[in-house]
Amino acid sequence: MRLLIAMMKHETNTFSPVPTPLARFGHGPGPLYGEAAVNAYRGTGSGLGAYLDLAERERAEIVLPIAAGAPPSRPVEDAAFEHMAGVICEAVAKGGYDGIMLDLHGAMVTESLEDGEGELLRRIRAIDPTTPIAVSLDMHANLYDAIIDNATVVTGYRTYPHIDTYDTAKRAGEILLKAMRGAIRPVMAWGNAPMLPHVMRQGSDDHPNRELQARCAAMATEGALAASLFTGFPHADISNAGLSAVVVTDGDRGLAERLRDELLDQAWQDREAFVYRIEPLDQSLARAKALPPPTPGEGPIVLLDHYDNCASGGTMDTTIVLGAILREGLDNVAAFAIYDPEAVQQAIAAGIGAQLTLSLGGKMKMPAIPGDNPPLTVTGTVKTISNGRFRNKGPMGRGVQTEMGPSVVIDTGKVEIALISRHVEPSDLNCLLSLGIDPMQKRYVMLKSRIHWRAGLGALAKSVVECAGIGVCTSDYSELNFTKVRRPIYPLDLPNR
Ligand SMILES: [Zn+2]
Repeated sequence: MRLLIAMMKHETNTFSPVPTPLARFGHGPGPLYGEAAVNAYRGTGSGLGAYLDLAERERAEIVLPIAAGAPPSRPVEDAAFEHMAGVICEAVAKGGYDGIMLDLHGAMVTESLEDGEGELLRRIRAIDPTTPIAVSLDMHANLYDAIIDNATVVTGYRTYPHIDTYDTAKRAGEILLKAMRGAIRPVMAWGNAPMLPHVMRQGSDDHPNRELQARCAAMATEGALAASLFTGFPHADISNAGLSAVVVTDGDRGLAERLRDELLDQAWQDREAFVYRIEPLDQSLARAKALPPPTPGEGPIVLLDHYDNCASGGTMDTTIVLGAILREGLDNVAAFAIYDPEAVQQAIAAGIGAQLTLSLGGKMKMPAIPGDNPPLTVTGTVKTISNGRFRNKGPMGRGVQTEMGPSVVIDTGKVEIALISRHVEPSDLNCLLSLGIDPMQKRYVMLKSRIHWRAGLGALAKSVVECAGIGVCTSDYSELNFTKVRRPIYPLDLPNR
């Protein structure tokens, strides 16, 4: 058996100013290829790790031309897309495969295309019209016809935080292997609903996504080979942004359509619960100040700077929430993180223990949203200097190497501020531990995150206070100028009937 396995992942925030060249994909200077990619992902809890395990179990010969994944940012540069798709298609053209297994995101927009994954699949099918293709996607996929039309089986994550990336790819891979042997004949039905669920309301521990994902899982006992509900990624001004569903059955198209419609109907019924209500920042911080401090053994109060989540395309260099924390005099705080490679280098030059005054953040302009992004002047001591490298503790992406780039911690006396040189969302405890910050010793931890922080710190947090700051993953969707998304769409247009 011969399998082609590849990864190409990017969640595109079309409102983000953060550039997406090829160098953003992967560790250090760019993606990984061939043997280096196999070594980096084998044995990890990633989608690629699942495909590699399946291949090993089947004693299959594998070809892994490229593993490329970048944190969310603006549309992918055409040259980067052409390179990644080109490397995959070149490998496809060599032929002789029994199956193709792809670990994709589903919300990749390029400078020229709304649907990067659909274009990749179309190109693969043009070269090889018959080899079965498995695709595993993120729950934030914005689905298009081309993805479904050119794949044999498509599966999506059922958790947010995404702690089932491995299981999702394994599900797709197992179905593919059965189809390759002729034991099943997968057919798929997909569709979308005219709604943009708010990211802050998409967590799979919360109503209504909890029930929707449970329903997807239960459909396995009703004839679905796989059922997936994608909450979609709303920070993308493209026609198909938003909620969708795909159901795979063994040759029964009617059943696939019925189950798909049930998922879409259930999501539509629950649309109001997907709307997020914003609390003004001063109220949030007053609430945080009034909360009793953690008792020994209790975790910190999490202050969520959710407008500036780099894993949704945020610049990670806005300082409105951090500035308010300093101004309000909150004590025993850790803040993760401000992305500011220049400030990091200044702190490294000053050295451990040095006191210095830095201008933090505010370096990236955000023309797509209203308001300024001012820098913040901070005086403190350099507490930590690190290469910013660690392996994820998990459960999200367990074992996968994460690169924050050169990183430092500046201690103002009341607040320890992590500064990093590559965009990393604090979804893993090692973000903090690797920099010498123990969240269990902190009264407050400020995180630039929306839902994924729960993977690493959710079980520890005493409570959470959501803080409205500024950023291109603004929770106020009226700040975003949608021109291409299909209309009408809830909650932008449709009355809540
Ligand atoms: Zn996602």
